[in-house]
Amino acid sequence: EKIDVKTSRKSAKSVPVKIPSTSSEIPAHVPYLLVGGGTAGFSAFRAIKSLDAKAKVLILSEEGYLPYMRPPLSKEVWYDPDSEKKDELTFKQWNGSEKSLFYEPEDFYISPKELDENPNGGVAVARGWRVERIDPFKRIAYLEDGHEIKYEKCLLATGAKPKSLNIFSKAPEAIQKHITTFRGIPDYVELNEIVKETDSIAIIGGGFLGSELACALSRRASLENPKLKVYQIFKEPGNMHKVLPEYLSLWTTNKVAKEGVHIIAGSEVQDVKLEGNEVSLMLNDGKKVSVNKVIVAVGVEPNTYLAEKSGLEVDPDCGGFLVNAELEARSHLYAAGDCSCFYDIKFGRRRVEHHDHAVISGRLAGENMVGAGKPYLHQSMFWSDLGPDIGFEAIGIVDSSLPTVAVFAKASEKDSPKAIVAESNDNIRSNLEAQNVSTTSSSPSPVNTQKTSAENTGTDDYGKGIIFYLRDELVVGIVLWNVFRRMTVARQVLKDDRKYDDLNEVAKLFHIFDE
Ligand code: FAD
Ligand code: NAD
Ligand code: NAD
Repeated sequence: EKIDVKTSRKSAKSVPVKIPSTSSEIPAHVPYLLVGGGTAGFSAFRAIKSLDAKAKVLILSEEGYLPYMRPPLSKEVWYDPDSEKKDELTFKQWNGSEKSLFYEPEDFYISPKELDENPNGGVAVARGWRVERIDPFKRIAYLEDGHEIKYEKCLLATGAKPKSLNIFSKAPEAIQKHITTFRGIPDYVELNEIVKETDSIAIIGGGFLGSELACALSRRASLENPKLKVYQIFKEPGNMHKVLPEYLSLWTTNKVAKEGVHIIAGSEVQDVKLEGNEVSLMLNDGKKVSVNKVIVAVGVEPNTYLAEKSGLEVDPDCGGFLVNAELEARSHLYAAGDCSCFYDIKFGRRRVEHHDHAVISGRLAGENMVGAGKPYLHQSMFWSDLGPDIGFEAIGIVDSSLPTVAVFAKASEKDSPKAIVAESNDNIRSNLEAQNVSTTSSSPSPVNTQKTSAENTGTDDYGKGIIFYLRDELVVGIVLWNVFRRMTVARQVLKDDRKYDDLNEVAKLFHIFDE
């Protein structure tokens, strides 16, 4: 049952390989069933295992791969063109050290048919298998071929799938060949071949994925295929505009352009035509962009299609399986990660589409499946890197439609994602919070600049800083802009729930003026 990346690659974009190939080798009864083998599912397994050492856990994953992390797929994997280990799906972290996309190697898992008999328990993954329906009352999950799995506790960790735009999904087959979305290993493997040869790629979307991937592909082009032009087309005025205050979004757009990305902001695709070996995108301002490949990065929708057939509730506003603060959808049935709309005791109903949330909510669900009965209290964080030099970390409600107050300081080379990974040797930045923060006393320097959301841009250099997002004058979200290892401080500020007269003073707690 060795994973064969090359075989998976051939069938990658069609149907994933099923391992085991027949459902008769998948147990008919398991104590713990995890539907979805992404980050939330894997994190739940770890939590279950830590509380119940001999637990028998079955993961069912529609993807043809063992559990892996997605963040490097829009970042690090593109910065290393000549790795001979591409087939093993490793990548070089910003500091050059090699790491696998997979959480654990093949031999960490036991085969599904051995799970039931193994006295020490363990975790098995049935790959390429999809759950069609759950009966929460009988506690049965039904696979696509009708195979039934009776569970004691079940987690829905089905994640999300990329959306497309009608203009592309309704286009003729010949055009669709040039269009793709981007979510997992098969998409990466395919695009990795394309970037070597193609002349032009357009990325549609100005959010996390579009912006990170545009920077990464552009850097890759400069290393390997200088003729490749990378366009990024989006309707907002600047990159990550839904998260960053306007002035910072515009500043960031400038930086992305300096990475070599041809940015077309404030634009939407109105029509698409096939012209020879290219597709031509007609934009609303009359412009035309012709490219070989189009990557659509216009957000995701949670995978909740089994809700209706299973009598489960989906949140009408956020989408996602509706769960309480303990992450329960129904008795013995939980949901975590991108697919769940949970009750956050502090900030109300939310659905979060980030790695650390998948880790934290997966862990909480796993603990509760063993009987912990804990509510969601620990806020998750997220991070984003636009290449090795610009990065940010955030916590709470970071919505650019809220008023913001930011304090900036001069940055040096060590204020970059590359420097922090070099120091910590960990590309998953949510892991760094557990490591200690040095809290030497600060002597605030007078060179800081404060900025509110309404102020004008000017020519400021936003090297590093703290951005506070306010609701009813309370700090509800914080972005640490090129500031790393300060998440514990941010978490404390959110927790304090105070009205501050002067956020400049609060910014000093983050030691951004220390040298
Ligand atoms: P997923 O990772 O989507 O996993 C769900 C799994 O369930 C999939 O394998 C799916 O096939 C399977 N599944 C679905 N339905 C069924 C079914 N019915 N039966 C069986 N299996 C099923 N977040 C950050 O915070 N920082 C980052 O830098 C970052 N970078 C990212 C880069 C990329 C390219 C992408 C795509 C995402 C990135 N994210 C990042 C977001 C983060 O990866 C997601 O929030 C996270 O993967 C969510 O985990 P999950 O387990 O909920 O869902
Ligand atoms: P996103 O929600 O961050 O951004 C969506 C983009 O698509 C926005 O620019 C939006 O304006 C645009 N858009 C939406 N509807 C549109 C329409 N009808 N026409 C034109 N444009 C439209 O989602 P994404 O960037 O596609 O990322 C995919 C998923 O992966 C998300 O869940 C995201 O959180 C996650 N992700 C996270 C990170 C990170 O946390 N660092 C990195 C990559 C991906
Ligand atoms: P603002 O950015 O001017 O101020 C935000 C809040 O922070 C205000 O309550 C201000 O008193 C407070 N504040 C400023 N400095 C502070 C400090 N050092 N310590 C503590 N608090 C401090 O935002 P605003 O006044 O709420 O909005 C001004 C205008 O900008 C509005 O018209 C608003 O709609 C618009 N706006 C637009 C967007 C957007 O389009 N994305 C975002 C925000 C604001």
